[in-house]
Amino acid sequence: MQPSNFIKPIILALCCYTLPSSMTTIAQNSEIFTASNAHSLRCGTAHPTNEAAALHERQFLNLRNQAKTTDGNNLAPRPPGSATVDVYFHVITDSRGNGSLSDAEIDRQMQVLIDAFANTPFAFNLIYTTTTANDSWYRVTPGSSAERAMKSTLREGDAGDLNIYSANIGGGLLGWATFPSSYNSNPIDDGVVILTGSLPGGNSIPYNEGDTLTHEVGHWVGLYHTFQGGCSGNGDFVSDTPAERSPAYGCPVGRDSCSAPGLDPINNYMDYVDDFCMYEFSTGQIERADTQSSFYRDL
Ligand SMILES: [Zn+2]
Repeated sequence: MQPSNFIKPIILALCCYTLPSSMTTIAQNSEIFTASNAHSLRCGTAHPTNEAAALHERQFLNLRNQAKTTDGNNLAPRPPGSATVDVYFHVITDSRGNGSLSDAEIDRQMQVLIDAFANTPFAFNLIYTTTTANDSWYRVTPGSSAERAMKSTLREGDAGDLNIYSANIGGGLLGWATFPSSYNSNPIDDGVVILTGSLPGGNSIPYNEGDTLTHEVGHWVGLYHTFQGGCSGNGDFVSDTPAERSPAYGCPVGRDSCSAPGLDPINNYMDYVDDFCMYEFSTGQIERADTQSSFYRDL
């Protein structure tokens, strides 16, 4: 099913991925997603136009070329676990406490993230958790005054530190994130926002296994959606993720939406499929994330 005309521009302009948990307090204020509407709610990360992406890529490649080894080979991705990301997890609740999370619930989410990135250079170290009751922030949307106020108050660390905000986010989204290249121009905005119900065991079925955070952190380390650019051009600027015309929903095994070689990468964390269906980053994505993050985040 295609997104409605109302929702479609939101998905194109942003990117994200949402939802809730079995925790009772969360369930009270979270939407219950059904199979028929869940596909509209994935991700609100602001992706560039194809032209802007191409310009950005040229700038990035100039930086990358400077990092080539003397024999002309690109630097290989660093070994797994070699770049530690300090994490600050900010729980937003409403004034009645809906949206609160226990340490165990946060730990389960962090473990999903750690496991998903186990074959990448990135390790994640939770420094501390905050909890803030604010009815406006609890319904935060991308680009809103509530988002600016929330992040201005709570954000910690520098370019290499990951700030995660959980809330009952609006817009029918599961989450959104910022890219590494955006940090210098707007450091306070840097970070990842996720729907509380997307945590493991949350109420945003079928997006409640914690992979929303993995998807959004994928953006945070420099990855586009696998369907970026559609069937033409350079797509997501990763050579081993086959071109994909549009987001995949559910788990459409065998989908092949472009004439270019290869089936759609429906099991990739950077698509829009159900949580159970996404479980991998490609080697090319790991290389891109490593290079983007080392340049722009000094990780
Ligand atoms: Zn996304």
